[in-house]
Amino acid sequence: MKLRNIAIIAHVDHGKTTLVDALLKQSGSVRDNQRVDERAMDSNDLERERGITILAKATSVVWKDVRINIVDTPGHADFGGEVERILNMVDGAVLLVDSAEGPMPQTKFVVGKALKVGLRPIVAVNKIDRPDARPDEVVNEVFDLFAALDATDEQLDFPILYGSGRDGWMNFDPAGPKEEGLAPLFDLVLRHVPEPKVEDGPFRMIGTILEANPFLGRIITGRIASGSVKPNQAVKVLSRDGALLEQGRISKILAFRGLERQPIEEAHAGDIVAIAGLSKGTVADTFCDPAVNEPLPAQPIDPPTVTMSF
Ligand code: GDP
Repeated sequence: MKLRNIAIIAHVDHGKTTLVDALLKQSGSVRDNQRVDERAMDSNDLERERGITILAKATSVVWKDVRINIVDTPGHADFGGEVERILNMVDGAVLLVDSAEGPMPQTKFVVGKALKVGLRPIVAVNKIDRPDARPDEVVNEVFDLFAALDATDEQLDFPILYGSGRDGWMNFDPAGPKEEGLAPLFDLVLRHVPEPKVEDGPFRMIGTILEANPFLGRIITGRIASGSVKPNQAVKVLSRDGALLEQGRISKILAFRGLERQPIEEAHAGDIVAIAGLSKGTVADTFCDPAVNEPLPAQPIDPPTVTMSF
């Protein structure tokens, strides 16, 4: 199946969770009786209790026979390394901006990172249903922000959608029909975001997100740069400077399917998956076939974030 990997980036409260819920529903990726308000991308109760949101979660939807992996990014500057690793794992981004508030500090932070890693964000002016919406001004502010952050001409030429994640529609005309649903956004992602770049060679994947799970142990999420991987396959882990950290076997491969994460029997280059079975490898390390001796290009390692999952 063809793939697209995207991140959703936004200032807190500009509507990421609501939009992803609507994407899941409209792509048919969740069963009608499944509660979308479990909120795929929202922080879990533990995080909420502690008042922190550190887990970058992923989900996927299928649109016109293309699987779109959607990764959430923390908006907070404390997680700069994690945001950069995540943005390095995807090939496109949807930037949500509240149509009344306009760009906010976290918008600037994540846009800066997205532009730096070379992404060409799609701009979605969200919450256009608000009576105080001022879409034209907000688009100008976004343009000025991109320019101030040294966007290239290509990045400045961003496609713009207007809509309401809450009401489940996005289109190219702020005054246009509101009943179209999210098809314009899905179609734009397929058109505007390139397929994942894959390289030749045996299995290699860089660790992007680290998670501790009471049943599976350490789980590492990343994008497979080359080759493919199956459960029980022998792998080794190389540090950023190429030192051998560990040799072991993959116990499980989990793929993002709608709201759930499901075990799969094989994963291929370009896909974003989570692997379990190794005990030392961490973010920015290279998980690879035993024949590989060179780590993938270095990624930022800060902060040393470990997320609990249940
Ligand atoms: P997140 O922090 O970016 O994940 O934002 P949420 O999706 O949790 O939304 C934050 C708040 O904005 C919630 O109260 C939502 O109900 C509200 N919201 C989300 N989308 C829309 C929208 O399209 N229009 C309006 N008016 N409110 C929205």
